[in-house]
Amino acid sequence: MTRRITADRTETTADGRTITTATIKRYCDRDHVVGDATDAEIEAAIAGRPMPDVTAECRQCTPNPA
Ligand SMILES: [Zn+2]
Repeated sequence: MTRRITADRTETTADGRTITTATIKRYCDRDHVVGDATDAEIEAAIAGRPMPDVTAECRQCTPNPA
């Protein structure tokens, strides 16, 4: 599975303020960006549950996935 990596979006309001919208990212255990976090991962984080290991999804930890 390849996750999307959604870039931050900025918009300027009519009164000149800048609003930045960011999508929460999932990192592997070695601090590499894996991609956008899934809803299940967000829910696990909020509940304080451990998140699934994503080393196999990390292109830097696993350059040639099986
Ligand atoms: Zn990694």
